[in-house]
Amino acid sequence: MKANKVAWIGLGRMGLPMATHLVSAGHTVTGYDLSEDSLARAEAVGIRRALSIKEALADADIVFTMLPQGADVLDVYQGPDGILAHAETSSLLVDSSTISIAACSELHRITSEAGFRFLDAPVSGGTMGAEAGTLAFMVGGDEEAFGDASEVISAMSSNLFHTGGPTTGQVAKICNNLILFINLSATAEGAVLAERLGLDKQKFFEIASVSSADSWPLRNWYPIPDVVDTAASSRDFDSPTFTARLARKDVSLAVEAADDIGETLKLGQLVQGFYDELIEAGLGDKDCSIISRLM
Ligand code: NAD
Repeated sequence: MKANKVAWIGLGRMGLPMATHLVSAGHTVTGYDLSEDSLARAEAVGIRRALSIKEALADADIVFTMLPQGADVLDVYQGPDGILAHAETSSLLVDSSTISIAACSELHRITSEAGFRFLDAPVSGGTMGAEAGTLAFMVGGDEEAFGDASEVISAMSSNLFHTGGPTTGQVAKICNNLILFINLSATAEGAVLAERLGLDKQKFFEIASVSSADSWPLRNWYPIPDVVDTAASSRDFDSPTFTARLARKDVSLAVEAADDIGETLKLGQLVQGFYDELIEAGLGDKDCSIISRLM
């Protein structure tokens, strides 16, 4: 394997464990984050600390961004200390954040105009997948650039897909999460009804998980307490694996993307409304499976 020089911008809950896998695989990783705390934790696992984005970019073969929102990614690309101002055009640029199709499209446009190769490469698998190095990567953009990024990405991933041209990685991610949160809502409604109609909650889970109601959120995030030990519902929806706020963000990205092509997501809008209600009630930082409280 070729050891690469990697610049990593955004060392939060996902970025730090992902970049740590690159260090373990023998790459030289230089990281930058606005948070001093994140930088200190990164340094402790062998990531070199940069004092600016510019410093992180020096001599980088590949540059990753893992940031909260599309606006953050655009800032990091377009700001005076940013990637477009200071990266070498030989650096391959990869954004792994979950962002809107509109922001992703804009990133492809501005990077291409500035002479860079850019990939949208969002991930699925959450913080557990990031820590285990088993994330699914959905990568949109030029096939040759995908080939060049694959070796580095495979240190963080057990499922790597080239989804097609620009923005298709982000399309895969947004549509996957739309289905996830619709499934979670459906699971919550069915599970609550079964209990209210007098069926033992454990018994219903056993039946549904081997019957046609089975789904990933049913098995992993069962929203009724004390049925699945590891589910957040069994710890009062605390220590979230995925917050209600983040679920709202992902569903709204799908609603927006549909809106941009003149379509309406009937179920997506409904689920978005559920999460709005939870956030308004001050429950945005609880686990997303708290949606069962509304059923
Ligand atoms: P996070 O808030 O834990 O981390 C984001 C990091 O970016 C923070 O450390 C923050 O200080 C840093 N940051 C923000 N603006 C910056 C800037 N201008 N320059 C440098 N650093 C900056 O978020 P996260 O959970 O790691 O999520 C990151 C992305 O991954 C999001 O787009 C999210 O939707 C996506 N995602 C998250 C999960 C999950 O389970 N947490 C799963 C899949 C995808």
